[in-house]
Amino acid sequence: MSGVSRITVHHEGHTPVWFTDVRSTRARLEQVRNIHTRDRRWGDIGYHYVIDRAGRVIQGRSVAYQGAHVSQQNPHNIGVMLLGNFEQQSPSQAQLRSLQVSLRHLMGRYRVPVSRVYTHRELGPTVCPGRNLQPRVASLRSSGALA
Ligand SMILES: [Zn+2]
Repeated sequence: MSGVSRITVHHEGHTPVWFTDVRSTRARLEQVRNIHTRDRRWGDIGYHYVIDRAGRVIQGRSVAYQGAHVSQQNPHNIGVMLLGNFEQQSPSQAQLRSLQVSLRHLMGRYRVPVSRVYTHRELGPTVCPGRNLQPRVASLRSSGALA
């Protein structure tokens, strides 16, 4: 991926996630990776970063490569996914803290302004990242927490 101009936040959107241990996170990511590589025939997991319920940040697809996370809008777009289904549960405090830290880091590193930090539903017809995460991202952007 030659250059980054925006960042998009997602939820996983399958069954709710309550586990916080590394082993379960690894197993779950393996499922996501299998869905993305086998069923959708992508080269790897479609997201660049995944944040588990304990707030761990796991590298997915290298930022050197275009992601596969927003239909028609993947070029120059970093995908950050939080494990869980935030239509049905709320993100953990640890996840929200990690999201804030990660977004600030990525925005600084790639010089992405806050106006170019999106959620999936802002770019296409989907409920992603869920009704319980959408307002949290909106308030991160508007509160100055990403400045
Ligand atoms: Zn999404």
